[in-house]
Amino acid sequence: MAVSSLKRVALFGAAALACEGPTYQLHKRATGGAVWSYDESQDWGKLSEDYELCQTGMQQAPIPLNLQQGLSTAHIPRLNYSGEISGQYYNWGYGPAFRLDNENCLQGSTAVNCTVDFNAPNFTFDENGINETVYLQGWHVHTPADHSVQQDRSKAELHLVHLDRNGLERAVLAIRIDPGILSYSDFFAQAPFNSSNSDTTGGSQLFPNFNNTDTRMTGMSTPAAALREAGDFREMWTYRGSLTSPPCREGIRFFIARNVLFVSNAQMQDILRISTFSARAEQEVWMHEINV
Ligand SMILES: [Zn+2]
Repeated sequence: MAVSSLKRVALFGAAALACEGPTYQLHKRATGGAVWSYDESQDWGKLSEDYELCQTGMQQAPIPLNLQQGLSTAHIPRLNYSGEISGQYYNWGYGPAFRLDNENCLQGSTAVNCTVDFNAPNFTFDENGINETVYLQGWHVHTPADHSVQQDRSKAELHLVHLDRNGLERAVLAIRIDPGILSYSDFFAQAPFNSSNSDTTGGSQLFPNFNNTDTRMTGMSTPAAALREAGDFREMWTYRGSLTSPPCREGIRFFIARNVLFVSNAQMQDILRISTFSARAEQEVWMHEINV
């Protein structure tokens, strides 16, 4: 095995402490966690006792979805998303990502705690009869998609990560991404890795690849456009899940839009060009309470 590939595995293990969480600030401080890779996600539980939930958890994400499960009429997210937000684009070690300007997170002993921007785009959902509001922290893209539907796996999946009011990762709006004939995504058109932006920003040439998690590019993002392009979650599945990377902490509610967000072929290539494999093996359905 080439030395360079060993280095790459080590880098990746450190580069994404928690996929649903803040990433780049944490990599270098995260000295205690064992090295892991998506290629060996079935074995995460063996790597460290800190990762036991990856092996034993009853609500591990992702899980396979299908229409026989129905679509959810419960926990409907009441979206409060509008306008552009400023922040920083970066590569989370596996593909494109964006964080709000004032995101600030620290790794605690068992979880990541972040400062909450109560002015950030947010949504409210009901759980156990209690209305809970969660606030956008940022987004990142997995390739291929984490969730399959009818055993079909999309080329990518967008995760909009939300915090509870105490700054803990609490909910993910997940949108599958595929290329479509005559499709074009306004949401991705805005990103600096979109090659059609290169004349004005040079972004597609400068955007950091997956082996560069340090570079930041200040810019604007309109996540409301991504939601709109996926049907504003009017049809969706939801379940009780977890972080999809070590330490696999549970207590994360997933919402997966039924609608796929379709991009152009060129936009799909723009995403794939700066991405590398980042889908955890699907987990057995257990106590996930899908759509319940
Ligand atoms: Zn994710």
